[in-house]
Amino acid sequence: MKKLLSDDIRYLKGIGPKRGKSFAKAGINNIEDLFYFFPRRYEDRTRFSPIKDLKEAQTQTIQAKILVKGERRSFKRGFSILELVVADDTGKIFCVWFNQPYLKEYFKVGARIILYGRIDRYENRLQMNSPEFEIIDTQEDESLNIGRIVPVYLCPQGLTQRSMRKTMKYALDQYLSGITDWLHYDIRLRNKLLNLAKSLINIHFPESFALQKEAYQRLSFQEFFLFQLPLALRKLSKKQKAGIKHTTEASLVNSFISALPFQLTQAQNKVLSEIKADMREPKVMQRLLQGDVGSGKTVVATIASIMAIQGGYQVAFMVPTEILAKQHYEKISSQFMVHSLQQKPVKIGLLTGSLNAKEKKKNYQDIKDGKVDLIIGTHALLEENVKFKKLGLVVIDEQHKFGVGQRALLPRKGSNPDVLIMTATPIPRTLAITLYGDLDISVINELPPGRQPINTERIRNDKRDWLYNFMKENISQGRQVYVVYPLIEESFALDLLSAKKMYAEFKDNIFKEYKVGLVHGRLKTQEQDKIMSRFREGKIDILIATTVLEVGIDVSNASLMVIEQAERFGLSQLHQLRGRVGRGSYQSFCILVSDADSEEADTRLSAMVKYNDGFRIAEEDLKLRGPGEFFGRRQHGLNELKIGNPLTQMQLLKKARDEALRLINSDPHLETAQNSLLRQKLLQRFPEYEKLMVVG
Ligand code: ADP
Ligand code: MG
Repeated sequence: MKKLLSDDIRYLKGIGPKRGKSFAKAGINNIEDLFYFFPRRYEDRTRFSPIKDLKEAQTQTIQAKILVKGERRSFKRGFSILELVVADDTGKIFCVWFNQPYLKEYFKVGARIILYGRIDRYENRLQMNSPEFEIIDTQEDESLNIGRIVPVYLCPQGLTQRSMRKTMKYALDQYLSGITDWLHYDIRLRNKLLNLAKSLINIHFPESFALQKEAYQRLSFQEFFLFQLPLALRKLSKKQKAGIKHTTEASLVNSFISALPFQLTQAQNKVLSEIKADMREPKVMQRLLQGDVGSGKTVVATIASIMAIQGGYQVAFMVPTEILAKQHYEKISSQFMVHSLQQKPVKIGLLTGSLNAKEKKKNYQDIKDGKVDLIIGTHALLEENVKFKKLGLVVIDEQHKFGVGQRALLPRKGSNPDVLIMTATPIPRTLAITLYGDLDISVINELPPGRQPINTERIRNDKRDWLYNFMKENISQGRQVYVVYPLIEESFALDLLSAKKMYAEFKDNIFKEYKVGLVHGRLKTQEQDKIMSRFREGKIDILIATTVLEVGIDVSNASLMVIEQAERFGLSQLHQLRGRVGRGSYQSFCILVSDADSEEADTRLSAMVKYNDGFRIAEEDLKLRGPGEFFGRRQHGLNELKIGNPLTQMQLLKKARDEALRLINSDPHLETAQNSLLRQKLLQRFPEYEKLMVVG
């Protein structure tokens, strides 16, 4: 019978129904699953540490013989202590296990044993506390577990390291010779990758650490590659869709730009030319615009909007909150005002959930009749009643606030409109590519001139007096202050209460002679708007707020951001909040108030103190949380990655992407005979791509 990787693991020698069940629980059902169950670490057992050389606080592997076995009870603490004295040619050492009396059965005086663990000092002797151990009693045990680099697995329940190794080795011996490498030879050659069989052997039983590393590279590469193929295919199919050919060069754009009260930065001009190049092509633009908070993405999006509008198209501009929608509406309207005196005015509309039915209806009609050119709104734009006459461009601001589904919905209201997506959570380019591999990426890597870096400090609650004085000082210079309070779902009621308490305390006591406001997400949106407008107009000195502030609020007179219980915010969130100040030319400050002592909180807060640059912050945040948490697990299938790590292997990831693009360009649906194995592999991994890959 031909051996197949899809063979059920239970047919492997030595695996009965019971072990089969254990394997199944660990997600291992067939031989292939077994091969891709990678070791957690390795031990170099080509040489062991001589006992006489062991030093306190080291973690070491020793090979020894059991000399003495003993058991006693600690009456004081009420548990049993199992002790061994083990020896090699150079010396002796104690090994101790607490409250695991059943271990006694395993240890026979005279047996050979391998021990791995930390060396501790206890009274006046060195000992190993609860080391991992393996007993070696057969010839086969010896060849697999000694004298080589040995894999250590996170064993399925009921399996020992020895039995796991034995099973793995047996399966490799039986099945590896028949294995075909589905990664093309030329790809392997170009990227200096080991072949599949050699990689699998060396990831489990490395001949050397150098080969283990090569195996790790190859297996990571193949994961990245499979992950990138569908993205490459999506990218290609979007390119082929007939899009709109915008007339990007016209007087309306130019006069808008020259009427701006500032010069565009070089970075803004660069991304604008990238956007322009896309928009004038008759294909669909799918572009991600990354830029730190305050880098001036909105004006870039506005200019892109005009490019569409001047050719008679409509633009939908979607933002995550009502406050932001209103702010954009006001700002963009006023920018247009300047020259709409001489030019055909651009009609701008605002559509949010809080409009009444009549207003909404009027809006729907205007959008349908083409009476508005630029419609700014929240996810209210997604409602079924919103129908465009001629939608030419979709802009989505702060994309991370929307789900993937919501993002895809808006463009469907037109016929292949161009799409510009903006994010202020910048991430390293190579990573952005893994995540949004089907998008093109533009980066604004420069802040408008004159911005001073925000001065960030962390203080403890015992410095409140200083803080309040500092706030007063800022206000007396004409500036305004934000105080952000954490408000999270789980402890919502309590948090809100403390925010309100602080508000009362400020208003009636500490800051009696100042104007204090409170805004939070549970207020009616009109109420929120009113408070924000009053703050913008300078009628409020101190605004106590919850994270409704996080996205996009732009008040350039605000120069001090105080964040209470700062340890309760994530790093990227803190950076977003901080971005609410430092938007004018005043020296701005961010004060993080926190008494937290955990190492994790300390790392986050000191990263904020140290770095002002959003890319740097995002990188730190990624390191702290890992890609899965950072991007949100469900969205991106990053949890599919078992071995590859996009953070530490960015170069390899990039190579995998290049190869995926190259392959998809030459054979988009993987129809040729030489790609059939790869196609099979891809569909096995991502069955949903069957639909995209139509043969013939
Ligand atoms: P982002 O959305 O990237 O966080 P915004 O678009 O809100 O940033 O811009 C921040 C502020 O900087 C706004 O008040 C905007 O008008 C202003 N701005 C944008 N571009 C420039 C520029 N080139 N020079 C000076 N100010 C600018
Ligand atoms: Mg913005």
